[in-house]
Amino acid sequence: MSETLLRLVEELNAGRLRVVDLTLPLSHATPLIPLPPQWNNSPPFTLRELSRYDARGPAWYWNAFETGEHTGTHFDAPVHWVSGKDLPDSTVDRIPPRKFIGPACVIDVTKEVAANPDFLLTSAHILQWESAHGKVPPGAWVLLRTGWSKRTDPAQYINLKDDGPHTPGWAKECSQFLAGERDVLGVGVETVGTDAGQAAKFDPPFSNHFVMHGSGKFGLASLCNLDQLPPTGAVVIAAPLKIVGGSGSPLRVIAITP
Ligand code: MN
Repeated sequence: MSETLLRLVEELNAGRLRVVDLTLPLSHATPLIPLPPQWNNSPPFTLRELSRYDARGPAWYWNAFETGEHTGTHFDAPVHWVSGKDLPDSTVDRIPPRKFIGPACVIDVTKEVAANPDFLLTSAHILQWESAHGKVPPGAWVLLRTGWSKRTDPAQYINLKDDGPHTPGWAKECSQFLAGERDVLGVGVETVGTDAGQAAKFDPPFSNHFVMHGSGKFGLASLCNLDQLPPTGAVVIAAPLKIVGGSGSPLRVIAITP
């Protein structure tokens, strides 16, 4: 057996390494991204009981469920966006599983977002973060810590106004920088989607999706507990369901952290 894997289990057992759950609960109450009515919206997550130790199945409990692929804490595959539709191995069942694991770079902009819910991260912010924590390595998950997951009221979480939702995200040039200059696995956010709330008005619309997925990169939406991770040093595991031809899926995202 590999020394490294043995050590990993030992460190976990001893509590020197901790597993942090970056996943929000998935239920009928899970908030959905509100698209303008001319577009198809996602159904809510719905659980349907098949039996519970009763006449329908005397010794077992199980459910069926319906969900959108992009509901709750979920994974965005490159094929999710038109810019990534012709890339090879861009559906969740085809992505090499090695790409589900990477070091986490956590960028804390909680203060900025408290002052401005439409805050956009720029490449200048990344460079500033790198001057303190080192360069974002290739194959990293870059996670935007905004504190947004503390908004437990769905209305506050979506923050929908007359002119659309107001939630933080990425400037287009920042997505280009992370995909092109840093070769990340993808980006993760605490909000309902990986683009800012107002990104329908960006050029191109939803520019983070357009740039990341067009570059074969992934997205993780509706993460939580990013405040339990150090800026660097944690490893994130985010493996979506193996839905044949799927564009994404709800998933359990975990981090292993010192
Ligand atoms: Mn999505």
